Amino acid sequence: MVIIRYQTATGPALGLVERHAVHTLEGDLFGHFSQGREIGELQDVKLLAPIAPGKIVALGRNYAGHAKEHGADVPQEPLLFLKAPSAVIAPDDPIVLTPLSQRVEHEAELVLVIGKQAKNVPEGKAWEYVLGVTCGNDVTARDLQRSDGQWARSKSFDTFCPLGPWIVTHLQPDEIGDLGISCRVNGAMKQMASTRDMLFNSARLIAYITAAMTLFPGDIIMTGTPAGVGPLKAGDTVEVEIEGIGVLRNPVIAP
Ligand code: ZN
Repeated sequence: MVIIRYQTATGPALGLVERHAVHTLEGDLFGHFSQGREIGELQDVKLLAPIAPGKIVALGRNYAGHAKEHGADVPQEPLLFLKAPSAVIAPDDPIVLTPLSQRVEHEAELVLVIGKQAKNVPEGKAWEYVLGVTCGNDVTARDLQRSDGQWARSKSFDTFCPLGPWIVTHLQPDEIGDLGISCRVNGAMKQMASTRDMLFNSARLIAYITAAMTLFPGDIIMTGTPAGVGPLKAGDTVEVEIEGIGVLRNPVIAP
């Protein structure tokens, strides 16, 4: 299934997409739901970020190539940080640069959307807690990330977390573990890898994170970015594409 969140006159609504037609989603996204009436074509709705996450748990250096390009060691265990949910924006919404940073960079990432409350989950059962997957761009003020030491500010400027375009629920765990992931800036390929290059796979991440903290339905995990990160400037268009999911496209504008 392909789940979208879209704008209506009365606020955000959830929908299911089937062959470009949007249907309402009836019921509970994290419980039982079904496909309702058709409300129109995909191209006619304004997509919102497919989830409004309660928390965003993200991974540093989860691809060896990215650790290497920063001269950083490959971590022995998953390296977690938190990114502010207030940074989330929709597909096609602008990433707004900040005068506080001279170096804002893109990071294409596979995003896991949690569907069920999860604590102390063993790796073997991790996928039972995942609703689906989407694309994310872990936009980062690289200079501030370095000078701050802590990453919270550099990762959490408003608009620094594009998500979407939708949540795909039909991919199998072994498929999710081997998806092409790429990032283009103004059409030029900057990042190109496979999710199989992750140092710690999705199941391992869920086990590691839930050994520490409870994940709730709607929380997300940003699973780290491959090599090739680079700067964004006003006027750019940045696209994160993950095979089997889709393209998350955002313009970049001056503050
Ligand atoms: Zn990242």
